[in-house]
Amino acid sequence: MENKELFEIALKSVDHHYIENYGEYGQVACAILSEKGNIYTGLCLDLSCSLGMCAEQAAIAEMLKHGETKIKKLIAVHEGGIIYPPCGRCREFIYEVNRENLNATILLDGLKEVKLSDLLPSTWMEHRIKEEDDGEKYND
Ligand SMILES: [Zn+2]
Repeated sequence: MENKELFEIALKSVDHHYIENYGEYGQVACAILSEKGNIYTGLCLDLSCSLGMCAEQAAIAEMLKHGETKIKKLIAVHEGGIIYPPCGRCREFIYEVNRENLNATILLDGLKEVKLSDLLPSTWMEHRIKEEDDGEKYND
């Protein structure tokens, strides 16, 4: 799939709504091309209590519903067509869903391709695992 096509899918998914003036959703949409060639989309959600989730997380939840965890390509698009890189929380989220997602292609401004590993050179999870491994060594 061409990057422009995935961009268009994400842009068409943008569907901005306000929730009784206290929250909003859909101003950012994410489109994921899975390793199996399926497309999953998701919308962001921002509530007044500061809870919410990014479009990437919603798209991943949709992917999980279909039994998939491996991402081939991902893009997040704000209304108006601005491409957002995944936030720090999403970078770790994408990685922890499937560690092989470090090889996923993330589309940035200008449809520039980078790997998730470029955006997340050091994961929280790998340090956590190392701490646990070191802990076990200390207990020996
Ligand atoms: Zn995020």
